[in-house]
Amino acid sequence: MNAVATSSWSDRLLGTDPRMRDRTLMCLLGGLVYLVWFLVMVTFAIPQQRISAQLGLMFGLLMLPGMLLFYPLVRSGWTQRFADPGLMSVQMLWGCLIAVVAYATVPTGRAALLQTMGLALVFGFMSLSPQAALRTGAILVGMLLVMLVCGFVWSLPAFRPAAQAVKLLSAAFIMGLITLQSRKFALLRERIVTERRELAAAQSALERVTRHDALTGLLSRQYGQERLDQEHQRAKLSGRPFGVVQIDLDHFKQINDQHSHQVGDEVLMAFAQAAREVLRDTDLMARWGGEEFLLILPDTQQPQEALQALERLQAKLGTTVVSAAVPSLRISFSAGYALWAAPEDVDILLQRADRALYAAKHAGRRRCVQAA
Ligand code: GH3
Ligand code: MG
Ligand code: MG
Repeated sequence: MNAVATSSWSDRLLGTDPRMRDRTLMCLLGGLVYLVWFLVMVTFAIPQQRISAQLGLMFGLLMLPGMLLFYPLVRSGWTQRFADPGLMSVQMLWGCLIAVVAYATVPTGRAALLQTMGLALVFGFMSLSPQAALRTGAILVGMLLVMLVCGFVWSLPAFRPAAQAVKLLSAAFIMGLITLQSRKFALLRERIVTERRELAAAQSALERVTRHDALTGLLSRQYGQERLDQEHQRAKLSGRPFGVVQIDLDHFKQINDQHSHQVGDEVLMAFAQAAREVLRDTDLMARWGGEEFLLILPDTQQPQEALQALERLQAKLGTTVVSAAVPSLRISFSAGYALWAAPEDVDILLQRADRALYAAKHAGRRRCVQAA
């Protein structure tokens, strides 16, 4: 009960999508840091006259977006339209801008401010694209250099330009190096994502190929067997029976011999197409061998329905042109049907269907026989 309440509370605050949660969490943490600094300023720095009320007001205004703006923009999903939906780059630059202004105007804690900027760079770069990493780093280094120039032009408090030049130039150099490293890291991350996507696509293409028969597009024997085992497991658990039908085209060898192997292939494709049109979407047809097929009929309570479907298929084949090269050619099939009943094994079920098919052939073909 408690766990449910907690999870829905955090879902509301951070969102449910894992990527959205990461982004909103970063915004909230950033907002918290701004809040702490704001409180330090209001309760300590201004009353102790470490900074003037005017400067305090300026910093307060600069901190407002960090405390109040970034989180709602990201959490509402409005920023999804941008390449950087977590506003990482904007937040880093905004934080660093405040740090640069503080560096220029508040002499105490300058070393800590430079370190903070470096830290913001390292953290932010974990999630930026290569271009954004480069752009953000360049702007940050630019900010430091502009501040240095300002230090030469105007007299900033306790800012000896020559001494500061050494510090700021070395800081800019280090941040430039971090930027280049981060870009390299981001490129590597992008390559890994692309390779993973390509691998997944190749895997699903391979799966499609191995699961289907190349000529007819029906399920391959291997995948058909897999689906048969799954259906068997499901039936054992649910107690709802399923049926299998072994199908074999009649006198197929003659078609090959009289017309050509190519016509035989056309016939196999036409048979598969006719079966797809007649059978239910839930029925599964696999090419079991050359001109033999296995039909799996899930959740079959009424054998009559399946037999009627096979009759329809037989009737359809009686009127279907199965080869453009030999338009007068018609085909038929023989079939053996077996209905599963607990606790029968799949192998035994298939043997029964096979025997029924054999009986159908012996009885004169073009028919479906129900297994004993
Ligand atoms: P029955 O009515 O007793 O089933 O007679 P049948 O001629 O159909 O039986 P048989 O099993 O003797 O012949 C099957 C033929 O199917 C033999 C083989 O050359 C042919 N065959 C198997 N695979 C393919 C294929 O992919 N393409 C073509 N064109 N023929 C194939
Ligand atoms: Mg055969
Ligand atoms: Mg045959």
